[in-house]
Amino acid sequence: MGENAKNNALYSVKMRSSALKNGENRHISGAESITEAAGVPAVCESLVSRAQNHALGDADEIHIKIEKIKREDVIYLKALPVTSRTASSASEGREIMRLELERLGVKRAREVLAKLAETYRMRGAMLLDADSLERLEDDAERGLRVTRMDAAEDLESARPPLKPVKNHFREALVLATKAAHAPGVLAEICVSDDPQYTTGYVASQKSGYVRIGPLKEKGDGNGGRILLYRGASPRECIEFLQKKPVLVTGVPRLPPGAAAPPRMAQTTAAFLEAAIEEKKKAHLYRQTTVIESAPGPKIVYGGREILLLASNNYLNLASDPRLGAAAAAAAEKYGSGSGGSRLTTGTIYEHELLEAELAEWKGTEAALFFSTGYMANTGVIQALCSKSSVILSDEKNHASIIDGCRLSGARTIVYPHLCMEYLEEKASLYYGSGGLIVSDSVFSMDGDAAPLPRLAEIAKKYGFFLMLDEAHATGVMGETGGGLSEMYGITPDASVGTCSKALGGEGGFVCGSSVLINYLKNYSRPFIFSTAPSAPTTAAAREALRILRSEPERVRALREAVQFFCEQLRLRGIGAKSESAIVPIQIGDENRSLKIAHNLIKKGIYIPAIRYPSVPKNKAILRAAICCAHKKEDLDFAASVIAKEIQESAV
Ligand code: PMP
Repeated sequence: MGENAKNNALYSVKMRSSALKNGENRHISGAESITEAAGVPAVCESLVSRAQNHALGDADEIHIKIEKIKREDVIYLKALPVTSRTASSASEGREIMRLELERLGVKRAREVLAKLAETYRMRGAMLLDADSLERLEDDAERGLRVTRMDAAEDLESARPPLKPVKNHFREALVLATKAAHAPGVLAEICVSDDPQYTTGYVASQKSGYVRIGPLKEKGDGNGGRILLYRGASPRECIEFLQKKPVLVTGVPRLPPGAAAPPRMAQTTAAFLEAAIEEKKKAHLYRQTTVIESAPGPKIVYGGREILLLASNNYLNLASDPRLGAAAAAAAEKYGSGSGGSRLTTGTIYEHELLEAELAEWKGTEAALFFSTGYMANTGVIQALCSKSSVILSDEKNHASIIDGCRLSGARTIVYPHLCMEYLEEKASLYYGSGGLIVSDSVFSMDGDAAPLPRLAEIAKKYGFFLMLDEAHATGVMGETGGGLSEMYGITPDASVGTCSKALGGEGGFVCGSSVLINYLKNYSRPFIFSTAPSAPTTAAAREALRILRSEPERVRALREAVQFFCEQLRLRGIGAKSESAIVPIQIGDENRSLKIAHNLIKKGIYIPAIRYPSVPKNKAILRAAICCAHKKEDLDFAASVIAKEIQESAV
């Protein structure tokens, strides 16, 4: 730690959250971090995020308290040594806890354990005289809050936690170490209130931190903490617990023996089978579906023709003979595979021509073609951002954007879907950081569109780079299918797109300035380390772009078909609207969505149920996707069958 940092003040940032239940303000969670001044905003944010995602439910109130701490007041304590005791049941776990207390000289251990139930509704801990079991806290209803402590390593690394996830063990050990050193504290017992976390502990200076589990059943959200005191000055003890700033050194990330299971265990067939079983139980198991014809408004499936309301082939180009002919000619000339990456032997004129055409179409200086849209997204984000970057990303962004953010290691702040106020607040907080704002242009599951003008305004105002993924807007939005950028006349710093949807082929692309494209050629790993897209793929993409530009009537036909379909659903009492080609139909329950989708197939309509993780849990949808070649009579028929299935499945 440098001399400057040493002289700086520290800050204790505390969060507590509560929910209103039956007119009563019920405590949900609390947490604390000690940080240097620079870390305060990030710590606040991660604590708030944690409060918003707590297993005990949604918070109605979140309080953040920031207090300055003088460095010279801080004491450093070495973390208690940790041992683990495994019980075969919760009652056996409690027995172990009782015996541990007795070993520490607590004679009425059984009664102490019985008192744990009284702590369940308290925000803080119970402080008991170890012999008389008299309560010693100032506020019996609230209990005693042990605060002003953190792991010294967290502070020293001066790096805010990347993820607002609670590390139960680490936080408990920090608190237990402080508590065990409070004057007069004989022992502490704790059971977590996290319904998923069944382990607790007995801690003392004498026997260290004894982890015991399980102490309760999974799903039980009752937990609490009791401190046992023996001495003549409880006030001194309380002062220490509440006020003395403590940094604990040598706190391990994981408890001994409870470290992640050895890797081999995770790759055994038994482990994989159990994981698959879990998916099945949750109605989240997925399988591939075999289609027996070319994609189009109708397909052959299971030996019969059915109506396809599921494909991203929005402009019906995937089976257009002109794309097939272009691909065949290219295969004839260049073969089926490129045999090398773009920077070695994989580049042919087709690639360069396609890139020039994409750039011209999007109104940018240059473009770069990737094998898939997934690779384009990960490749741009990973190249532009690193650990020291800030990314602001919409919560409903596509998985390839999320993965790009993860790959980059950047600090990623996920803003609530389309919430420009939140985005602006964060952008202003990181003003001048040269970070990235990234958004889908049309969101892949709900089909709604991002407010591009506001995104561009915020990016410009606070010096952020704007990246827009036009995957589902290409060929769909804007007068001629040029995407949201055409619709608003705004060119983002990077426009990503894919040829795999309306353009009826495959391959992703990014359009932007020459310097951006040159940079990506040198830094984007999916571009550098993957074999170049094949000649047939590239030629088909060029032909698709040519058709899109010369046949804008396809885009108009698509828009009309979507509007007609939504109207037919609404006429039958199903709320449906769409700005794009995607019409989400809300169902909710995963199992119900599967049943409806299954019945629809039987009746000749293919619409997939989209479930977690593509959408949040319990928010399953039927995702209908419309194609410009869908006939009115087919859409009318589909709307009536869908409405009937939904209504019947509700009873
Ligand atoms: N972005 C979005 C919004 C998408 O929906 C998808 C595909 N589902 C991709 C990117 C990835 O494109 P590709 O299929 O070409 O890899």
